[in-house]
Formats: sequence, C-alpha cells, structure tokens
Amino acid sequence: MLEKKSNFIKQIIEKDLADGKHKTIITRFPPEPNGYLHIGHAKSICLNFGLAEEYQGRCHLRFDDTNPEKESPEYVESIKEDVKWLGFDWGEHLYFASDYFEKFYNYALELIKKGKAYVCQLSPEEIREYRGTLTEPGKESPYRNRSVEENLELFEKMKNGEFEEGECVLRAKIDMSSPNLNMRDPVIYRIKKIRHHRTGDKWCIYPTYDFAHCLSDAIEGITHSLCTLEFEDHRPLYDWFLDELNTPCHPQQIEFARLNLSYTVMSKRKLNLLVQEGYVSGWDDPRMPTISGMRRRGYTPEAIKDFCERIGIAKSDNLVDYSLLEHCVREDLNKRALRFMGVLEPLKVVIVNYPEEQEEELEAINNPEDPSAGKRKIPFSREIYIEKSDFREDPPRKFFRLAPGKEVRLRYAYYITCEEVVKDEQGNIVELRCTYDPESRGGYTPDGRKVKGTLHWVDARKAKKAKVRLYDRLFLVENPALEEKKGKSFKELLNPESLKEVEALVEPALYGLKPGDVFQLERVGYFCVDRDSTSESLVLNRTVTLKDSWAKIEAKLSEK
Ligand code: ATP
Ligand code: MG
Repeated sequence: MLEKKSNFIKQIIEKDLADGKHKTIITRFPPEPNGYLHIGHAKSICLNFGLAEEYQGRCHLRFDDTNPEKESPEYVESIKEDVKWLGFDWGEHLYFASDYFEKFYNYALELIKKGKAYVCQLSPEEIREYRGTLTEPGKESPYRNRSVEENLELFEKMKNGEFEEGECVLRAKIDMSSPNLNMRDPVIYRIKKIRHHRTGDKWCIYPTYDFAHCLSDAIEGITHSLCTLEFEDHRPLYDWFLDELNTPCHPQQIEFARLNLSYTVMSKRKLNLLVQEGYVSGWDDPRMPTISGMRRRGYTPEAIKDFCERIGIAKSDNLVDYSLLEHCVREDLNKRALRFMGVLEPLKVVIVNYPEEQEEELEAINNPEDPSAGKRKIPFSREIYIEKSDFREDPPRKFFRLAPGKEVRLRYAYYITCEEVVKDEQGNIVELRCTYDPESRGGYTPDGRKVKGTLHWVDARKAKKAKVRLYDRLFLVENPALEEKKGKSFKELLNPESLKEVEALVEPALYGLKPGDVFQLERVGYFCVDRDSTSESLVLNRTVTLKDSWAKIEAKLSEK
C-alpha cells in the first residue's frame, strides 16, 4: 500500500480546518440508484469516505433518488453492499433525497415568494428553443413575469396532479442572457406521473438534479461537496440556489476528474445496455467494470483501494490503463493467495519406471510470501497431467520446458525425462512416456544436477475436474466511448473472445474452498471460486494472469 498522497482537495480542507471555517468536515457519496456501482464510483467512494477517515469527519451515504423511472430498491441494496464491501461505514448517516421532498417543495415556494421562480407553460421544445446557444442569448419566456400569487396557485395545481406531464414546469428566474446556459432560467420541477420506489404516488412533481443536490447537501450540513468535472458549469447554479434560499449552510462544491479506464465503459447507461442486450450475464458478470463484477472476479477491496490511491485526484480528465488495476490486484493477491496446482489444457504423462500401484504424498508450500500459511500434501503416482503448452516436440532455442530427451523438474516432486511421444492416428500428441529419478524427490538431486524448467502438474488418479472461465478485455479498443462517438456500434467494439471456458484438472484440495475464495494456480494465474460451483462441480473465474504488463509500461515511462 502506498503512502497517502496529498491533493488539491486535501489542501482546501486543511486550510478550512486551520482557518476555523469548519471544526469538522462532512462529505457525502451521492449515487443515483439507477444501476450498479462501477470502479469510477469506487474512486468517488474512496475519496469521500477516505477524506472523512483521514480528517476524523464523517461521510454520508445519500441516495440521489429524484428520477423515479429508472430507480429501484434492487439498486439501493447493491450499492449499500458494494460500499460496505469496500470497507466503508456510513454509520447512522444513510439518507435519501426522497426524504427531503417536502423540504424541497417548501424551498421552491420560498423562491416563488421571492419572485425568483415561475411556472412556465412553454412546451419542452419551446423551452429548448428559447434557451439560445453558446453564441446567442436566450429569449425570455412569456410566462416569466407572472405574479407571485398566480405562480403559487399554478405550482400547487402542478403538485396536485391537475396538469399533465410536459404541460408546465417550475423554473428559476435568473438570467436568459447569461453566458452560462445553466443559468438561463433552469427547470427546477417537472411533472412525472410515475410511482416512486419510496414515496409511492405521493408526488407527481420531481425536482431536478441541480435543485435537489445543493439543497440535500445543505440540509445534511455537508462541508465539501465533491463531484466530477462535468458539474463545473453547474457550480454557479449550485451557489445561486444556496444564496437565494435560507438554508442551514452553504457547502462548497469542488470538482475533480472522473476515472476513465481503458478497454471498458463507465456509464451506467452503457453498462445497463450490456446487461439488457445480453452481452454479459448480468451486472456482476466478472468482465464488467462494476464493483460487483470485480468482486465476483476475485478482485479484493484492498486492491481496488490501492488502485484509487495510486491514480490520485486531479483536475483534468485522462484515461487510466487497465493494466494498472490488474497490477494492484496481483500485488495484493501475491501476498495473500494460497498456491495450488492445476492444468488448463491437460497432457497425460506416464512415468514408466514408477511402480504401478505406488502412491505417495509430497509436501507443498501454501504461500511462499507468507510462512504462516503452512504446507499441504499433494498426491503423486505413475500417471500425471502437465500443461500441453509445456511440451514441444521441436523446441525452439531457450525453451526450457519438456521436449524429447529433455529433463525438467516437476514442482514439489521429481525430475522427469521425456523418452517417448505417443500420438493418435491424426498425429496429435496424446501422451508422453517419461522416466523419473527417484533420487530427486522434493525437486533436488544429490549430485546437484541442474534443470532449468519447473512444471506444474496434477496427479491423474486424484485430480478433479473444474470448469474454468478465462476472461479477457471486454472491448477490443482502448477507448470504446470515443469510438462509439465516431459512429461505431457497441457490437463491433466488443471483444468476441472476452470469455473462454476450458475444462481443467486441479488438485483435489481446491474442492475444499468456498465461493469467493481467491488462490493462485502456480504458473497459470490467480483464480477465484465462482458462486455457480456445487460440491460436484467446481467453477473457477480467472481473476488475473501472472504476467504483469503494467511493470513493462512503468519501466518504459521511467526511461523517458
Ligand atoms: P454514470 O455517468 O455512470 O451514470 P453518474 O455520475 O450518473 O454515473 P451517480 O450515481 O450520479 O452516477 O454518481 C455518484 C457519484 O459518483 C457522483 O458524485 C459522481 O460524480 C461519482 N462518479 C460517477 N462516475 C464517476 C467516475 N467515473 N469517476 C469518479 N467519480 C464518479
Ligand atoms: Mg448522475
């Protein structure tokens, strides 16, 4: 774990605490429950909850549930689970923007009474037209100068369901010629005759994000309201509402760069599409950049938090290399994962000079990085399986694995030499016949003879089958969102080989693990037990390969 770095937000907080502007800081993580959380949200969670921890303040979990049509309790539950799993605790501070609907309504009345809001009956198209553009000022709505009494009466009717959707909206009265389009009389309430998952049919008018968000922050006494850069242009509006209204406080909105990760997409709308159209098996498909997908894939909270710490907090958008995330996963798993052996593509090896009925148990180290993980016994007998790719009939130079006449070490077992290659009628290699050196038990010989290759293997009699899902990048291109903007469809950008299933043979000990357990198959990669496993059939997800492409990228970067 890296030491915690400073950043511009911490500097603001430290100054506010030093100046006595705040005695304690209060942040919040405000997801909309319209999908599962992704790794970008993890960045925001680590930032908000992390700051609260570091400065002994607190962080609220607030559901920003003001858009009933896309929200559901399923999403609320999944979000809570993900935040907890990452290791954060909101304590008693679980809030829902929908709990403030009455308060928002009263604030809207306050604005109307100040002559700062009006009911507008332009159609949605007209409102857009009247708004103007970046180069042209907007036009004032003909309804802009209604009296306070008329506005109060119409707004009450809106609330009572006497208008249809789209017939009218409540707008703030600010400035139709402002260079900032967000300030041109933004809509603050619209009619939606949709049942809300928490308030039911009580409301048929719902506040917009800009109105609800700043007020929720103020109601909760948030000190620093952290959001992504696309809200920078909304900050004047955030401040306008809080200046106009008599709120308990005026939080400071601070923007930071959102996380973009290569070879994947990060918008809930797009992730939802992947789920709905069946490109993945669900929100927690291990290829998804969702927290639940990563959890099912075998990523750990520690690895994700380490990743968020390393990418840091900045003011400009960039694309983070997926291999950095994988690097963090490997580093964490290397420390904690137990080692086992398994072969993904089995090739049979018969050890011809090993007594036919003999069986023995060899000692293996569970985790060389952690002596307290202990040792285990692995079975060995005359027939074993090795990885197909560990044998070459015509080995290239520097191929130190098995080849005709060559000697290698079997991990934790013996030296073997390949004497004969058995093929089927089509010429496929189906079996190797080898001899072993009984003196080399445990992997070393009394004569100190060296071999360069060490292979993993499993005992043919005792090995068990396992279904292994090999995952790769979900998308073929580095920046799918950019390609999509250029007109490519999702379909042509998806990696058709993002999931391959093989039937592997593994050490029997793996059947003692439970869903979610992560381990290393020596020389092959990190894997975790999927929840689809049963006591008869083990299903494994490849978490990450052993090869670290990030180390190479980093080395190149430091050469520059
Ligand atoms: P999406 O665009 O994926 O739908 P969103 O911003 O609409 O995401 P919210 O539920 O509103 O999703 O997000 C909750 C919080 O997480 C917000 O404060 C938002 O700024 C932050 N967040 C969302 N995506 C990212 C990201 N990629 N990087 C960092 N923070 C993010
Ligand atoms: Mg949002």
